[in-house]
Amino acid sequence: MSDCLFCKIVADEVPAEVVHVTERTVAFRDINPQAPTHVLVVPKAHFANAGELAVGDPVAMAELIDAGHAVATAEGHEDGYRLVFNTGEKAGQTVFHTHLHVLAGRDLTWPPG
Ligand code: 5GP
Repeated sequence: MSDCLFCKIVADEVPAEVVHVTERTVAFRDINPQAPTHVLVVPKAHFANAGELAVGDPVAMAELIDAGHAVATAEGHEDGYRLVFNTGEKAGQTVFHTHLHVLAGRDLTWPPG
């Protein structure tokens, strides 16, 4: 989508610190990190949210989660990390291109806010 921020990051039209790339996904550091490791993993193709990706391309969804695990492990957090999909405005989603938050490197409390 031409007006989508994360499509532009995937296309290298907007700069981002990319840390991991697979056939169907790109992972880059969040611009406003909420933990020492805060990486967003996105599908290269545009889907608005996690549910749409799961239905539209389940292989890419599995690859997204695998990439999240790979990023957490590569950054030394295999002992504890959190994967989050904010889905819908009410849940805090602000960018409507599916993205998996990978959070690690501090104590992560539960329940989340
Ligand atoms: P959401 O609130 O939709 O779950 O998460 C969107 C995330 O995208 C936020 O954590 C926000 O900091 C991040 N973000 C917004 N704009 C940019 C940007 O231009 N570059 C990067 N790397 N992250 C961004």
